[in-house]
Amino acid sequence: MALLDQEYVWHPFTQMKDWLRAEPIVIVRGKGAWLWDARGRSYLDANSSIWTNLHGHQHPVLNRAIGRQLKKISHSSALGLANEPASLLAERLVRSAGGDLRKVFYSDDGSTAMEVALKLSHEYWRRAGVKRPLFLSLGGAYHGDTVGAVSLGHIDIFHKTYGPLLFETEQVMAPYCYRCPFNRAKPERADARNYRKCRWECIGEVEKKFARAKRSRRAITGFVVEPLIQGAAGMIPQPEGWLQRASQIARSYQAHIIADEVMTAFGRAVWPGGPGFLACQSEGVSPDFTALAKGLTGGYLPMAATLTTQAVFDAFLGEYEEFKTFFHGHSYTANQLGAAAGLASLDLLASAKSAAARTAIGHALERELQRLWVNPTVGDIRRVGLVAGVELVKEWRTREPFDLRERAGIRVCQEMARQGVLTRPIGNVVVLMPPYCTTPNEIRKIVQTLSAAIHDILS
Ligand SMILES: *Cc1c(COP(=O)(O)O)cnc(C)c1O
Repeated sequence: MALLDQEYVWHPFTQMKDWLRAEPIVIVRGKGAWLWDARGRSYLDANSSIWTNLHGHQHPVLNRAIGRQLKKISHSSALGLANEPASLLAERLVRSAGGDLRKVFYSDDGSTAMEVALKLSHEYWRRAGVKRPLFLSLGGAYHGDTVGAVSLGHIDIFHKTYGPLLFETEQVMAPYCYRCPFNRAKPERADARNYRKCRWECIGEVEKKFARAKRSRRAITGFVVEPLIQGAAGMIPQPEGWLQRASQIARSYQAHIIADEVMTAFGRAVWPGGPGFLACQSEGVSPDFTALAKGLTGGYLPMAATLTTQAVFDAFLGEYEEFKTFFHGHSYTANQLGAAAGLASLDLLASAKSAAARTAIGHALERELQRLWVNPTVGDIRRVGLVAGVELVKEWRTREPFDLRERAGIRVCQEMARQGVLTRPIGNVVVLMPPYCTTPNEIRKIVQTLSAAIHDILS
């Protein structure tokens, strides 16, 4: 299998020259938080198969739900036809999301869910008489890899590569306390949000962006944000209150709030004691658009949803010949197997058992991660709910980063894989995001393995 892969498969976001140098791990089976490869080796899935899995692999409830649907039908088109599981799932999503979200537009993955939000918002404002709608998003943001989603994001290397294909968007600094130029605190052995010394300049910058755009007569019409923590930007957590303040500013300038909850939804990112469905709910923010994908089917099938308001929906209503239709859609929109998995996943998420397990994982992560501070190459440890990032640096006292060419994060993760724990870094940040069925003992093993790998590789 490894040979066939190397002969024929081109992997995502992968330098294939590196890939072809070593025998790849071939996954053949999964159960709960564990994965097995073709050589019989076992691994803990410490990043939930790239942030998609919620309740573990081969969950009996999800397996049964998909099996039942399989006996009825796997897919029929959403063009001109409705179907049962997609309707039920839409109702569930709207009820659980609350706020002003009333309508669900289905697609297939996070990038397409963001494309839908982007096109809907753009068209909404055009119909309201705005000639050139303008989006504002955070520095370093990743909102997907399709052309529109890349434009919304601010990852330098993508913009350099695809520049001519992209449209212009505004960016504002992310509240990255650990590396914030306005944070006057010396490094400590704690989450930088807790000892920062600043005057919320990051919020002042958001206000300035909106005010400046308004003065220049091209107002910002959409504020795009990952709530509570930015994922692929490097696991950058927001200090409590940031999202609410930034959203209030966006609202005061009548901009849409577009929440990218592709990573944060379904109990992944929450403030302690906060509601366990969407991250925005932790800060009492009610967006105009919410993009859901990765965990929507519990990590089983590619399905995504963009939730929006009655006001946006109404802007697209009209007589046929007015051509106000939303001209967008994919072949697999509202797929029945995905929707059946999504419904079963939401049932599991709503159970007391899942809530208790998530609380236990949060406590275990908090406790175990503290052990990493003794390591001088650990600069920052940040956690929001069940997402954690460990930023590796040359020396914690100076915060000096490793040159990306040193591949510190990659080498540490390769060593972890050798020791039976799978995850992927973002640059120098090692990501831990275990499935909700992971036990406190397994969390300990994951963190101990990370600690050992850091020690072996970087000291
Ligand atoms: C993964 C991710 C995306 C893109 O989702 P895909 O399913 O990979 O297209 C968009 N936004 C966020 C926040 C993500 O984590």
